[in-house]
Amino acid sequence: MLRGIFLFLSRQARLRRWAETSQLARALSARFIAGSTLEDALAVCVRIRAEGITATLDYLGENVKSLEEAAACRDMYLRMLAGLRDSGLEPNVSLKLTQFGLDFSAEACEQNVAALVQVAAESGGFVRIDMESSEYTERTLGIVRRLQQRYGASGTVIQAYLRRSASDVESLIATGVRVRLCKGAYLEAADVAFASKAEVDRSYQELAERLLTNGNYPAIATHDERMIEVLEKFVAEQGIARERFEFQMLYGIRRDLQKRLVKEAYRLRLYVPFGEAWYPYFMRRLAERPANVFFLLRNLFR
Ligand SMILES: Cc1cc2nc3c(=O)[nH]c(=O)nc-3n(C[C@H](O)[C@H](O)[C@H](O)COP(=O)(O)OP(=O)(O)OC[C@H]3O[C@@H](n4cnc5c(N)ncnc54)[C@H](O)[C@@H]3O)c2cc1C
Repeated sequence: MLRGIFLFLSRQARLRRWAETSQLARALSARFIAGSTLEDALAVCVRIRAEGITATLDYLGENVKSLEEAAACRDMYLRMLAGLRDSGLEPNVSLKLTQFGLDFSAEACEQNVAALVQVAAESGGFVRIDMESSEYTERTLGIVRRLQQRYGASGTVIQAYLRRSASDVESLIATGVRVRLCKGAYLEAADVAFASKAEVDRSYQELAERLLTNGNYPAIATHDERMIEVLEKFVAEQGIARERFEFQMLYGIRRDLQKRLVKEAYRLRLYVPFGEAWYPYFMRRLAERPANVFFLLRNLFR
């Protein structure tokens, strides 16, 4: 119920405009957002690198309003790849196709992303194409397959809550596309996505085991401690080396669990978002755990 309310609020443009210009709202979001500038975010990446954690950098923004805005986002991502490289870090970024113009022209969007993936391929970098709501899944996978064929250096995300995901995982395994597996963060209809947590968790475990066994360097993206324990046991039993996959988490979430995984010599990458357009991302984080609202308010007034 609360999850649905936050996801509904995440799409309200007027609320978004108010929040993104409010000092109080920005202060609240700071736990999950690594600052507003590229310099802020690079400093975070350098800091976590010293703790043994790698990063994938995300410039916040989605559903841009014009192709000019999409081109500006592409240019920012080019600066991000260069900034990461110049800071001695792996040039690894995550982006959303609606930020690169998918709502206006699939062709222009693909060209924007291809320009970035080409640069990543030339500099030993990697571009992860995030997965948005299910209306974009098919188009996203089409672009991802073509980029993989032309350049490599790219991969995508599969959401365990989607009913179609088992079949998508098989086809991505067959073509060697790198997959990040997450549970899924958008509001979806029951004919498209599993509704209950038990079903989503079952799907997550099945897909994770399939990817860990046969996938190309899968990323297990979750903060679900029980699930992580189940999968730790699975890789130990199957003799899957720790270099063949990585865990991924979001910046600011379950830092205790992040520390434990690093201590136990697992690979861990954090998704590090930055920028001014933080509202939809932040609301999805609240939807995942409504108790965050009280937690954030308590910390703010402490
Ligand atoms: C690296 C990464 C990339 C992602 N990329 C995408 C993407 O491209 N597309 C997409 O749809 N989704 C993406 N997600 C979000 C994902 O789909 C889930 O919504 C999110 O990870 C919460 O699910 P969970 O697996 O952590 O498990 P849940 O079952 O939701 O939560 C398990 C436990 O994790 C902790 N937790 C989870 N979320 C939070 C939170 N917000 N604040 C505090 N604690 C929390 C709590 O302790 C909770 O009990 C990504 C997640 C990660 C980690």
